[in-house]
Amino acid sequence: MIGAGIVGCALAAFLAEAGASVLLVERDDVGAAASGRNSGIIQHPMDAALVPLFEASLEHYRELGQHGFELAAEPAGVLVLAEHEHALAAQLEALRAFPELRAQALAPGEPAALEPAVAPRLAGVRLQTGYPVGPAAATRAFADRARAAGAQLVTGADAALAPDGLTVGGVRRPAGAVALAAGPWAPELLDPSGRWRPIAPLWGVVADVRLEAPPRHALEEGGIEELVARRGEPPPLFSLVTAGGASALGSTFLHERPGPEVVAPLLRERGARFVPALAGTPTGAVRACARPLSVDGLPLLGRAPGRENVFVAAGHGPWGISLGPASARIVADLMLGRATAPPPAFDPARL
Ligand SMILES: Cc1cc2nc3c(=O)[nH]c(=O)nc-3n(C[C@H](O)[C@H](O)[C@H](O)COP(=O)(O)OP(=O)(O)OC[C@H]3O[C@@H](n4cnc5c(N)ncnc54)[C@H](O)[C@@H]3O)c2cc1C
Repeated sequence: MIGAGIVGCALAAFLAEAGASVLLVERDDVGAAASGRNSGIIQHPMDAALVPLFEASLEHYRELGQHGFELAAEPAGVLVLAEHEHALAAQLEALRAFPELRAQALAPGEPAALEPAVAPRLAGVRLQTGYPVGPAAATRAFADRARAAGAQLVTGADAALAPDGLTVGGVRRPAGAVALAAGPWAPELLDPSGRWRPIAPLWGVVADVRLEAPPRHALEEGGIEELVARRGEPPPLFSLVTAGGASALGSTFLHERPGPEVVAPLLRERGARFVPALAGTPTGAVRACARPLSVDGLPLLGRAPGRENVFVAAGHGPWGISLGPASARIVADLMLGRATAPPPAFDPARL
């Protein structure tokens, strides 16, 4: 397996538990990319094709207790915020498809009554989803589970595909099968020529902040579609997720890797429109990481096109922590011969 993000670590755990001999190679460290540097919320993806992955992932997360990971019994809730109610109308309409989210429209002022950190006159929608977990917690727990099941994790070593397996730091390691769980870098491992590029990085910056009275709900800016549809790069879009007293303030959606220190003041400025206390709160550590975004927004889970024993497990965009474990289960079952084909919507051959 190449890549120790959430997908690679969960896959390593499932395969090792099934008795396979597993080597997971990571060029940096466990969770060094998006899987350890994200906003830290396990959340309903609001896309019908992805909901089964979310629901199955919640079940996997509930089984991680002995690896230092506890999922709360109930979600904390997500508050989608906007300066004007009309900015939320389209989103509310789209949310009708997901009654399980119990979308509740909140008139101007109601979000602040529910969550005192929120600016007084904002409108909102409350959603019954969202488990704040801390950015690296899920990935580390699956890495621990993989090791406990006998998987070998090698970090600090570059891996590449070879005709009979892979190379690790230039040394050949034959393997019966190889899984590419390398996030946005998975396509270049399969096709160094650059022709097959169904996944590209979409860069986000997240800053840590410690608010005196942080919100319990996860907060995010509504009307995102409108902002993203504008010409040029979208401005930072506000989100705030608090786990264990620390809040992750996000984020950007950029095609080029941004300078985190340049972006941090912009995040604070935009965030202060929604949570005024952010204006007077210094940011702590700032991190940039890449969402592995596929061209149709769905992950690639299954046999790599044109390669018999090579599998792809990547392309979760903004949802990898929320969907990664169930995606890994699909690929593990294929690699173990327990399933013959992935759900067609996720088959890498479609791209
Ligand atoms: C700002 C931001 C906030 C986010 N917030 C959330 C959130 O709150 N909830 C949520 O569900 N999702 C969130 N996401 C999305 C989520 O983080 C990603 O979808 C997920 O982490 C991707 O996991 P992965 O395992 O596929 O890839 P990655 O985490 O990218 O892991 C791939 C690994 O492969 C390694 N690698 C690559 N090439 C090689 C090589 N040649 N040899 C060895 N190793 C290699 C990399 O070093 C990396 O560690 C967020 C993303 C961003 C950017």
